[in-house]
Parts: sequence; structure tokens; C-alpha cells
Amino acid sequence: MKKWDIAVIPGDGIGIEVTPEAIRVLDTIADIHGGISFQYKEYPWSCQYYLEHGVMMPEDGLQQLEQSDAVFLGAVGDPKLVPDHVSLWGLLVNIRRGFEQVINVRPAKQMSGIDSPLVDPKGFDFTVVRENSEGEYSEVGGRIHSGEDETVIQSAIFTRRGVTRTMDYAFELAKTRRGHVTSATKSNGLVHSMPFWDEVFQDISKNYNSIETQSIHIDALSAYLVSKPHAFDVIVASNLFGDILTDIGAAIMGSIGIAPAANINLNGKYPSMFEPVHGSAPDIVGKGIANPIGQIWTAKMMLDHLGEQEMGTLLLDSIEEVIEKGIKTPDIGGTSSTTEVTDHILNTLTLRA
Ligand code: ATP
Ligand code: MG
Repeated sequence: MKKWDIAVIPGDGIGIEVTPEAIRVLDTIADIHGGISFQYKEYPWSCQYYLEHGVMMPEDGLQQLEQSDAVFLGAVGDPKLVPDHVSLWGLLVNIRRGFEQVINVRPAKQMSGIDSPLVDPKGFDFTVVRENSEGEYSEVGGRIHSGEDETVIQSAIFTRRGVTRTMDYAFELAKTRRGHVTSATKSNGLVHSMPFWDEVFQDISKNYNSIETQSIHIDALSAYLVSKPHAFDVIVASNLFGDILTDIGAAIMGSIGIAPAANINLNGKYPSMFEPVHGSAPDIVGKGIANPIGQIWTAKMMLDHLGEQEMGTLLLDSIEEVIEKGIKTPDIGGTSSTTEVTDHILNTLTLRA
């Protein structure tokens, strides 16, 4: 029996509602599999925790999580209690940086049964691999002069190591998918960073002869994700570009409530972290209508990461079947509750297994 230790941080708002739903799913997966089990350790780190302790997580928080096989997180943030930058930096950024989770992976897929603002007749199914630790989101820069001369400088930092590992991850992922990588660039406007980005992309593509590649400027690529998203398989992007593209991905899927994400540690020293794209959604807390699919699909990404791809595929197929049958929360046009959707996913899993 293989035992996976999962550190669970439900966090705030609907994070507390959807995390237990995904855990019900994981337990059913373990039953179906027969050879794996999940051992959960729950951590109450959240805005509520901050009110009681003055910090989002304890000083030795990272050490507490370090021995787990993965961190499974709901949502963090409750702007009525704690300013967003405090909760975000105190917990999410702290874990992402401390555990060197240098890559962010976000799939986007057209699901039959969801009226999204964009329905591509050819369907779409792409994954954005985003550099998660450097690039445009650096703290280098500042203000100089004052008055009319006031000037602000915001520098971007791209290291060969950081760009290379991101692109390698994208190419490896493409091998397991449809064998196509698109690089998001802007070398006609950002004349230092992006030509370097393109250069590394070309170098790495030489190591992957079976993979088709293309480079597209970020402005055109954003437009293509709306006009022909079916044309993309794996997209590799810098921190800022990836941030923008993944929001488009969640939007064209039809609801942020179904979009999953993973923060990947590559060196194996620390656990990776799995958290849905959506936030704590204070406007729907306590109503029982939060869509659990973002969290459950995130559990699928965690299963894949732990090497249980067969179970991951079974889970995604079951999610799609339930949506297609019309068992949906209001955000995707249904009338079902959070727990009803999960119940149907559990039944479908058992029937399909
Ligand atoms: P962040 O925490 O990233 O700042 P946010 O506050 O900008 O997030 P969310 O908390 O994701 O955004 O909420 C945005 C909108 O999407 C809200 O109207 C919310 O109700 C809705 N929403 C988010 N997640 C879900 C979900 N799982 N099910 C249904 N609706 C959701
Ligand atoms: Mg928010």
C-alpha cells in the first residue's frame, strides 16, 4: 500500500467549503485504486488565524509542511479581515518561494455542457506553463527624482537557469500531450529580455526534435486564445505573460470556479502545491453553491504529479460526464449545490471504475 501524506490548507471563504469535497473525491479514488491511501494533515492557516496570531502561518510553518508529499490548498484571502497583500504574501508567496515552486501550470479545456462566452467549434484543450519566480515580477526598481522629473523604474529579471527549467518543463509536458509548444514573446518591444527568452527557446527546441514549436507575440497570442484557442497545446510564458494568459484561459472555460492550478517544485527538495485558480469568493460564502470542480480538478493535477495518471484521467472524465449531464452549480448555469455536484462525481467515478 502506497501512502501519500497530503498537507491540507483550506484557507478562507469557499476554500473551507470546497476542500473537503475534493478530499471526499480523493478518498473514493483511493478505494477504487486499492493500492494507495491518503493521509491528510490539516493546517488552519488563514485570515482568521491571522486575527488570532498576527501572522498568516507560524514561523516554522514551512518546516511543518516540508515532509508532506504535496500541499493541497483551497483559497486564501478575506479582505474584510486582512488586506489582500498581507494574506497573499504571508501564506501563498511564502510557500511558493520557500518551497522553490518555480513553475505554475494551468490547463484550460472546453467542457461540453458549459455555455462559455466562447465556444470554439473545434474545442480547446491547452495548458499554460508559467515561469513563477522571476521575470517581470521583481522587486528591482524604484522611484527617482521628484516633481515633474519623477521617474519610476521597474526591472525584469530573467536568468538562464530560470528560463531553461521552465521551457524544459513545457517541452516534457508537450511530449505527453499533442507535441506542440508555443512560446509567448514580445521581442519587438522588450528588446533585452524577450530576445533572450527567444534564444533559450530556440536552443531548447533543438533537444526535442519530435516537438513542433512556434513563437507568437503576447498581444497576438492573447487575441488567438479568443479567436482560435483550439490551435494551442502547451504554451510557455514568462511570469507576467503567463498571468495574463491563464486568466484568459479561465474566462473562456466559462467560470473561474472550474479552473485548476499547480505550483511545481522541480528539484524534489520540497513539496509542490496544488490550488485552484479562484479566490475565496466572499460573495457566495455560506450559500452552498460554490463550484467544487476547480478544487477537484486541482486534485486531479495532484494525482498526476504523484504518478497516478490513470486515476487522474478517470477523475477528469468523470467531471466532464457530470457537467455534460447538467449537474452544475449556478456559476456554470445549473441549479445544483456544491455537495450535489461532488456526490455525482463520486457516483460516476465508482460506475466508471
Ligand atoms: P483573489 O483571491 O484571487 O483576489 P478574487 O477575489 O479576485 O480572487 P474570486 O474570489 O475568485 O476572485 O471570485 C471572483 C468571482 O468568481 C466572484 O464573483 C466569485 O463568487 C466567483 N467564484 C470564484 N470561485 C468560484 C467557485 N468555485 N464557484 C462559483 N463561483 C466562484
Ligand atoms: Mg479576492
